[in-house]
Amino acid sequence: MHKMLHPKADVERLYIPRKDGGRGLIDVETAFKTATIGLDYYLKHKEEQYPKQVLEHERSKAKNSISKNATKFKREVTMPEIENGEDKSASENAKALKHVFKSKMKSMKEEKWKNKALHGQYPKILEKPHVDTVTTNKWLSSNLKGETEGLLVAVQDQAINTRNYQKVICGQQVESKCRMRSQHEETVDHIVSGCEVLAKTEYISRHNNAAAYLHWSICKDHDIEITDKWYEHEPETVMHNKDNNITIMWDMPVNTDRTITANRPDIIVKDSVNSTCKLIDMTVPSDRNIALKEAEIKSKYKDLELEIQRMWHMKTVVIPVVVGALGTVKKGMVENIKKVSERATMTEIQKICMLGSARILRKVPSV
Ligand SMILES: [Zn+2]
Repeated sequence: MHKMLHPKADVERLYIPRKDGGRGLIDVETAFKTATIGLDYYLKHKEEQYPKQVLEHERSKAKNSISKNATKFKREVTMPEIENGEDKSASENAKALKHVFKSKMKSMKEEKWKNKALHGQYPKILEKPHVDTVTTNKWLSSNLKGETEGLLVAVQDQAINTRNYQKVICGQQVESKCRMRSQHEETVDHIVSGCEVLAKTEYISRHNNAAAYLHWSICKDHDIEITDKWYEHEPETVMHNKDNNITIMWDMPVNTDRTITANRPDIIVKDSVNSTCKLIDMTVPSDRNIALKEAEIKSKYKDLELEIQRMWHMKTVVIPVVVGALGTVKKGMVENIKKVSERATMTEIQKICMLGSARILRKVPSV
């Protein structure tokens, strides 16, 4: 009703904790089974009058007794036997047992999610060794509107109604090429990061928003007077701090002695006191390509890096900022952001990029 859960989105994922990429709901069935198993252990091991009486009563039941249910539930996963040790009380052991059962149920849900052909594509990207999973999943704990979160989760689940989805998954006799008149298959990946029609306008504004946030953060770091809200910030081509020893250039080509084609990174920060220069360039590619794009930026601006070092006598570094269109963050990006600005956070940039992608999806008619 409130569009917080897309009808085709993954159901297992609802009950996986947010820090692990799910939506953190409590699964009532698992909660009931866990409580039953804990209670069963407690009743059998607590040496007290009342628990003993309850146990007696339960044992007289023909079916659905706590003990019978607990045995049945435990069979669903492989559970270790926990004996009542001298140092642990019955309730402490019951708690430990519950914990084991809960985490086994959680792994089962995760496995089920990952093994699905369509819904499992995104969690498989998260498992890649170059992905910073902890940072990537932070957007789920950042209080986005329920409807936006629901849309983004459905998109990660590949569950939205693209033309390719209609044809390949639903088996309908429809055109599967992109409705923006591109010659490519209309997949989720294509819409959020691969469409040459959307690239000219939509991808640029998503990129510029995120880059403007970085620019705003750098200005704030150096006490340059700007607006208080990053989203009202309009970067000027060249900005200086009060002491005039920091120069920040926005989308501005560098004049070099020899011809260099890639001479315009998004942001350049010149620090004449420390004799350092940062070349910052950001991109929002397909989540599958984040590692490739980082390497591309580094090699693209290598010539400029060397040339600036030679011309300005400054220690120069290229800092790539790469976030997947659906929020995937590569290992090392958190460190890169710290090099760009003390106050900028990866989660904020990730949110800007993902909200940009959500806006694009809402613009493409009837996806
Ligand atoms: Zn297209």
